[in-house]
Amino acid sequence: MTSLEDKVAIVTGAARGIGKGIAIHLARAGAKVVVADVLPERDATVLEIEAERGSAIAVETDVSKNDSVLNLVNRSLEEYGKIDVLVSNAAVESRGVLEDVKEEEWDRLYSVNVKGLYLCCKHVLPHMKERRTGSIIAIGSATSVKGFPEFAAYSGTKGAVLQIVRCLALEVRALGIRVNCLCPGMTDTEMGRAAMAAYGDGTDQIIVDTQGRWGLPEDLAKAAVFLASEDSEFVTGQPIHVDGGLTT
Ligand code: NAD
Repeated sequence: MTSLEDKVAIVTGAARGIGKGIAIHLARAGAKVVVADVLPERDATVLEIEAERGSAIAVETDVSKNDSVLNLVNRSLEEYGKIDVLVSNAAVESRGVLEDVKEEEWDRLYSVNVKGLYLCCKHVLPHMKERRTGSIIAIGSATSVKGFPEFAAYSGTKGAVLQIVRCLALEVRALGIRVNCLCPGMTDTEMGRAAMAAYGDGTDQIIVDTQGRWGLPEDLAKAAVFLASEDSEFVTGQPIHVDGGLTT
């Protein structure tokens, strides 16, 4: 089994869903995990990790706020002394034809999904550059590369995430830091169920298109362990689609 022994990982949006699954799997592989989220349920993720004899702390974090992300990075360094892995997973989603999307909603999506990635990278990178090592895993989406009706706002943020990953990977590849974009398809979480409810009967066809089942947080978590570890040492700047073939 891949070992992340002695690694320290920050996972944003880890109170539930895919982020929680990733946090638990990184801890099972031996990493010490910083569970960051706006929701108080972040404490439950820590308890689950500790129940399996893992090590984790929870830090209340709003990834769209500079001071909050700075505090997250400082708390991680105080507690564990270093940061090897950043999983930028926190995001919000909404749906609607473009002209009906409210300006505040547009700003909220870009502020969490895009600015959140920027702020997390901005504050983690000086530390990773100093140590000349690190793996940044941004969570994109099938919508990073494929169009879906009524998802222009959300899809735009996820396309931006992938392009930020590609550019940043080239900026830091000579410094021992890798940056990749893990792209879920239709995954069984609160966000996934809400998005798919919008498709009504079309959901059945999407399931047929994706190996006949929903994706699970564990599917993403296994790929995140790979990207966090030295097993993926020659992989950078890439979208890794874990979507049962949805984008194929
Ligand atoms: P989710 O809504 O179940 O969980 C998202 C988590 O992010 C929540 O715990 C939430 O509190 C947290 N969060 C939201 N705003 C935050 C903020 N400002 N600061 C800190 N934390 C914040 O969603 P999920 O399905 O687990 O999605 C995880 C990632 O996967 C997201 O990046 C999402 O865009 C992506 N994704 C999900 C699906 C899917 O079908 N579920 C598909 C493609 C991509």
